[in-house]
Amino acid sequence: MHVVIVGGGVIGLGIAWRSLERGLGVTVVDPEPASKASHVSAGMLPPANELLYSQEDLLRLCLASRERYPSFVEELEAVSGVPTGYRRDGLLDVALDDESLDVLGGLHRFVESVGVTVESLDARQCRELEPTLAPTVRGGLLSPDDGAVNPRELTASLLAAVSARGGTLIRRRVTDVLIDGRAVGVRLDDGTTVHGDRTVLSAGCWTHLLGGLPSGAVPEIAPAKGQILRLRSPEPYLRRATRAVAGGSGVYLVPRADGELVVGATYEERGYDTTVTAGGVAELLDKVRAVLPGAAGLELAEAAAGLRPGSPDGLPVLGETCVPDLLLATGHSRIGVQLAPVTADVIAEMLVSGEVLDVAKAFSVDRFPR
Ligand SMILES: Cc1cc2nc3c(=O)[nH]c(=O)nc-3n(C[C@H](O)[C@H](O)[C@H](O)COP(=O)(O)OP(=O)(O)OC[C@H]3O[C@@H](n4cnc5c(N)ncnc54)[C@H](O)[C@@H]3O)c2cc1C
Repeated sequence: MHVVIVGGGVIGLGIAWRSLERGLGVTVVDPEPASKASHVSAGMLPPANELLYSQEDLLRLCLASRERYPSFVEELEAVSGVPTGYRRDGLLDVALDDESLDVLGGLHRFVESVGVTVESLDARQCRELEPTLAPTVRGGLLSPDDGAVNPRELTASLLAAVSARGGTLIRRRVTDVLIDGRAVGVRLDDGTTVHGDRTVLSAGCWTHLLGGLPSGAVPEIAPAKGQILRLRSPEPYLRRATRAVAGGSGVYLVPRADGELVVGATYEERGYDTTVTAGGVAELLDKVRAVLPGAAGLELAEAAAGLRPGSPDGLPVLGETCVPDLLLATGHSRIGVQLAPVTADVIAEMLVSGEVLDVAKAFSVDRFPR
């Protein structure tokens, strides 16, 4: 069986690699693979957040992906020979005021209730773990088995694995999905066509804009803009991925071994605009200075913006559409890097055996009216 995958972000590339491992032929089509949301993403891999309190199906999907991450990365690095920057050396949540301490208390109870190890810390313990934290830190939580991945390295590793396993990458834009009673492939922007037995659409917030799709077959995947900064210091400025909450609003900080410190992110609904604004940068700098006062002296190495792909109900869309042999894998919004391993396995299983893994059943496209 040959599969055509439209879109080579972390979602499309993950599916491509896992499908190749299962013996399928794969062609990925993307004019600029790994250049959009997956390129700017921070790569935080927290065990949970408050958005999951009332989202049981999404929580199960997140936990399934969390469980898969270590072996996914280990197998990927062995095939590609390219590191992913994956680290599981702890994720710290800190509160900067009393109200935020209560928020962390709720998070503690929730995370523990789903079987994840987490420890409460007082202010002194937080600063012992992370000496650059502000003295105003009131307390925190440590999830010792969680962490982060470097999405730029992860996607480079996936691209190398796709190539190593005999997959084809075509660096062109898809203009249309070809449908002849069923999906039979795609047309490219130079007018040529690529045929396949199955076609998977994973083009992020551009998925529903592809030509040739019957009305209502693909729900609108709306972009949610996120601005994000990369600071730099000669040595890592933090030891582990950290989230801070103050006054009901949060910031996350992801250090890399080479001294990069990612500071994220704004959440804005501005269509397909990816302008980096003075206001966006100022908001992030204000937040980081409140948690890490010394960060003001670090180099501002990059300010960027990306578009998170959001489905009409904010949840992923995984699986068969009403068009035979046409599948969707998109709508991962704020957590696509986190959900890449489970998404790749879910879609590869559907392609190979037709089985819908239990964990994916709630995310079918059927939940949207056509
Ligand atoms: C600022 C920011 C911070 C984030 N931080 C995190 C985080 O810490 N943890 C986390 O889990 N998630 C995070 N996310 C979310 C995560 O980045 C996304 O959910 C994920 O990258 C989505 O991956 P994707 O492959 O679906 O989309 P994308 O990465 O956007 O990839 C879509 C691909 O489709 C291609 N494409 C588009 N149109 C066509 C076409 N016509 N033909 C062919 N190809 C096409 C594009 O070139 C692109 O490569 C963050 C997002 C942002 C914006």
